[in-house]
Amino acid sequence: MAAKLIKGTEIREQILEEITSDVKQIKEKHGVVPGLVTILVGANPASISYVTLKIKTAHRVGFTEIQDSQPETITEAQLLALIDKYNKDESINGILVQLPLPKHIDEKKVLNAIDPDKDVDGFHPVNVGRLMIGGKEVKFPPCTPAGIQEMIVRAGVETSGAEVVVVGRSNIVGKPIANMMLQKGKGANSTVTIVHTGTKDLATHCKRADILIVAAGVPGLVKPEWIKPGACVIDVGVNRVGEKVSEKTGQKIAILRGDVDFDAAKEIAGSITPVPGGVGPMTITMLMLNTLKALKYKLGIE
Ligand code: NAP
Repeated sequence: MAAKLIKGTEIREQILEEITSDVKQIKEKHGVVPGLVTILVGANPASISYVTLKIKTAHRVGFTEIQDSQPETITEAQLLALIDKYNKDESINGILVQLPLPKHIDEKKVLNAIDPDKDVDGFHPVNVGRLMIGGKEVKFPPCTPAGIQEMIVRAGVETSGAEVVVVGRSNIVGKPIANMMLQKGKGANSTVTIVHTGTKDLATHCKRADILIVAAGVPGLVKPEWIKPGACVIDVGVNRVGEKVSEKTGQKIAILRGDVDFDAAKEIAGSITPVPGGVGPMTITMLMLNTLKALKYKLGIE
């Protein structure tokens, strides 16, 4: 294998250690710790497992965490009132509403009701605007793109002047990471191209990339011959391609594949993220970092 593996599982541990140490120091100096509330509506099993993991991680790094579970029957007005309550709660620095919400609730209205200074997911239009402006304006970069950028930086990949090609233009991955990589500053300053289903020649664009970020949700979309030798390849795709029995638990688990043909690509790339264990573990980690930042902004120490 030629490529260096960029392991999200390892980087996550480093960052969580750093957050834990910061939380201890803030507690000693200021007598407070970050507070995170996760609002879960209904009992979607996938949502329950995401929320459980977020709460567990928040607990591990020393935050106070509230898991506020609401019935599927909650009205939009009741949910908005709940958000208003947490917006006003001084002990809460981050508010996270687990999606999807039931069909009778307007998700956009709910997300827009969160105080932008507690919007640790970074999806509020105010934070999307701040990200676009860049520099010191940025408060909460959305978690998956922030994780991607952190991985590139910690892997020691040069971004300044690099050709970055992003496959996919979603609001949660493609557009924000492209925007982050083109900003002037550390871990960015790149020349960025975004490609999508309307792009005429995907392969030619990908072949130019010093850093290729793929977030399409199509297993094996990126062929090894599209990868420039020595490039950094960040595979965001998480695609269920089958099931297998876990050796550890004996239970059926999903077989996951990325958007890149990993086995062949690792022989050409300079560095590459695996799936699973690559970008995946970074998202919750960056949510914790954003919650810590929210408290630091409030205390005027960031
Ligand atoms: P999405 O909203 O479905 O967007 C996919 C994007 O890829 C769209 O812009 C689409 O183009 C483009 N695309 C799809 N097929 C393509 C093709 N054949 N050629 C060129 N472009 C193509 O997906 P998403 O939410 O960004 O997620 C993308 C992948 O990342 C998924 O596998 C998802 O599970 C994964 N993901 C992982 C994490 C994590 O690990 N933490 C977080 C978020 C997402 P159009 O705009 O033209 O349709």
